[in-house]
Amino acid sequence: MTEDGCIFCKIARKEIPAKLVGENALAIAFWDVSPRQPLHILVIPKVHYANVAELTLNDEASLVAVMKLGSELALEFAEESFRFSFNTGAAAGQTVFHAHGHLTSRTPRGELA
Ligand code: 5GP
Ligand code: ZN
Repeated sequence: MTEDGCIFCKIARKEIPAKLVGENALAIAFWDVSPRQPLHILVIPKVHYANVAELTLNDEASLVAVMKLGSELALEFAEESFRFSFNTGAAAGQTVFHAHGHLTSRTPRGELA
């Protein structure tokens, strides 16, 4: 899918609601609507790329912004252990074709929003 009709572009532009948890100039983070671990945050670049490979190969600034925001939120919300993973391609489980990192942890720190 291109930017047209992309649900994560709409969330990044704040055209549709999401529970935002953090933001920097080039990336934004929000709680996954259907969490699969006690901590489950999605971190996306504000600019549309179909997957993490396209993001990485075309826009290092946005890639760094995504990784920094994910790392900051991991330190804030996870008790030491976490995963930051990018499903890429339908066969790998990707269902939204706007690059996004899943920040998940079984050991959240304190009360989650
Ligand atoms: P994927 O399967 O593409 O790696 O991950 C997509 C993720 O986006 C899923 O975990 C799904 O629950 C989440 N998701 C899909 N639509 C929305 C939405 O409108 N809002 C939020 N907050 N999460 C969404
Ligand atoms: Zn998009």
